[in-house]
Amino acid sequence: MTIKQQFLPSLDELRQVFAKRAPFIFLGSRTSTVIPYDKLESLEIDWIVDSSQISPQMELSSEHELKLSGAVNWKEAKAYCQTYGRNIKTSPTEELAQILSGVATSCTGERCFGYGTLRDQIKTLTYMDTAGDQHTLYSDRDLSEHHLFESKEAKDLLKRYQESYKEYRSYKNAPFPRFEKETDLMVGTEGQLGVITDGSFSTAPSHEVVFLFFALPKWERDDSIHLEIYDWVQRYRHQILSCELIDENSWNYLDKEEIPVVGKDTIFLEVIEKDLEEVYEKLTTELNLIKDDAIFSMPVAKFHQLRMKIPRAIFEVNSQMGVIKKGTDVQAIGPKFKELLQLYRNFSNEGIRYNLFGHFGDAHLHFNFMPSKEEADKCDKILGDFYKDIKSLRASPFAEHGIGLIKKKYIKSFLSPVHFEMFQYLKANMDPENLLFPWGYMNMKWKMEEGE
Ligand SMILES: Cc1cc2nc3c(=O)[nH]c(=O)nc-3n(C[C@H](O)[C@H](O)[C@H](O)COP(=O)(O)OP(=O)(O)OC[C@H]3O[C@@H](n4cnc5c(N)ncnc54)[C@H](O)[C@@H]3O)c2cc1C
Repeated sequence: MTIKQQFLPSLDELRQVFAKRAPFIFLGSRTSTVIPYDKLESLEIDWIVDSSQISPQMELSSEHELKLSGAVNWKEAKAYCQTYGRNIKTSPTEELAQILSGVATSCTGERCFGYGTLRDQIKTLTYMDTAGDQHTLYSDRDLSEHHLFESKEAKDLLKRYQESYKEYRSYKNAPFPRFEKETDLMVGTEGQLGVITDGSFSTAPSHEVVFLFFALPKWERDDSIHLEIYDWVQRYRHQILSCELIDENSWNYLDKEEIPVVGKDTIFLEVIEKDLEEVYEKLTTELNLIKDDAIFSMPVAKFHQLRMKIPRAIFEVNSQMGVIKKGTDVQAIGPKFKELLQLYRNFSNEGIRYNLFGHFGDAHLHFNFMPSKEEADKCDKILGDFYKDIKSLRASPFAEHGIGLIKKKYIKSFLSPVHFEMFQYLKANMDPENLLFPWGYMNMKWKMEEGE
């Protein structure tokens, strides 16, 4: 089967796409880690509608809200806001991903530590339905007031659904969408209920920042300093915008001369420059395990260049060797974080190449197995067992990358009948002909059907 790809020159053509009444997947920059873009054919996805060429439009309102439509990526939005002394509040590591796609995947990222999730920053979203009509949703309106939830039965369904969300309230994302505000219909629903065409988002003042690094022992051998830093940074979210880990295995993908400290893990803090002195003083007096000579800073430009180089170098090495990365996206806050690190330590003893990096201050790390072809099945088995542990730990299994196609096999045990009931209700009302990414998780059934 050959996949048909349609590149939209503008949003107007989206109506023509809908007029064909054929199922499709709508794509942004194709950086999702949960959609195997090179294997879509074998998954019977035969139509891709690509939005990456739609011209980006941005405008900053007098209330400092960024209004945008089209193919705007994080890097462009950041540069645009900075010309007005503002900044976007979300910064995923992959800056070339699109913002509206980020809404669809409920993306978070590095500055989530200081500013919260992208969902928190949304003011309005506009989406196109399968009839080609556009609708605007408002984040200050409760979903229970939306016309979809007018009936008593629908209100009851929403209430039961929201009850199920309670245990995940402190997490960035649960294994199912939040569905509290009107705008939540588009957040994390991965393009299964509508195509997001416009959005407006709160912004922050643009601060000069400094990157402070800690050189640490490898986490596999000793994570005590890592955990001391984790506890400590929780008190300074107002002064520290991000707190990230890059482990020694990840640094090793770069050339030796580029690695800032050889043989060490690093945790870095993005600190607002005007607060640097205060933060530095606090960390040197309040942190017991870290020595002053293990702390160093890095110029902002060099930092950004190195930061992006690591995932790209990993991707390159994998492509050359035919390795398919198998990664996790788990957030386990508070005391559960230590247990998560222990699970990752167990992984590190499996004899398969790996690395660990991510949003350390939010207790949200990506452990990546880099298996050879022969090791791939073993990894799948290990990960299958891992999600059972994550369920017992009551941690969040899919904290920012979404479900896509790759994580579908792991999601079921985290869902209950009420989730399937809600997905079915929304699909029936918002996409009755099942045209919008019908291969996604919202079409899964609680009970397996014959042949599944
Ligand atoms: C190196 C690297 C680092 C990353 N770092 C982060 C990170 O820090 N934080 C994070 O959250 N993610 C991260 N990601 C994952 C990825 O960048 C995000 O999931 C991102 O939101 C995907 O954006 P995209 O434009 O590439 O979307 P695509 O991959 O093109 O699409 C992703 C999904 O969104 C749907 N979709 C896209 N556009 C729309 C739309 N307009 N309307 C409705 N549905 C739509 C698609 O159907 C698809 O299901 C990273 C990925 C890589 C490779």
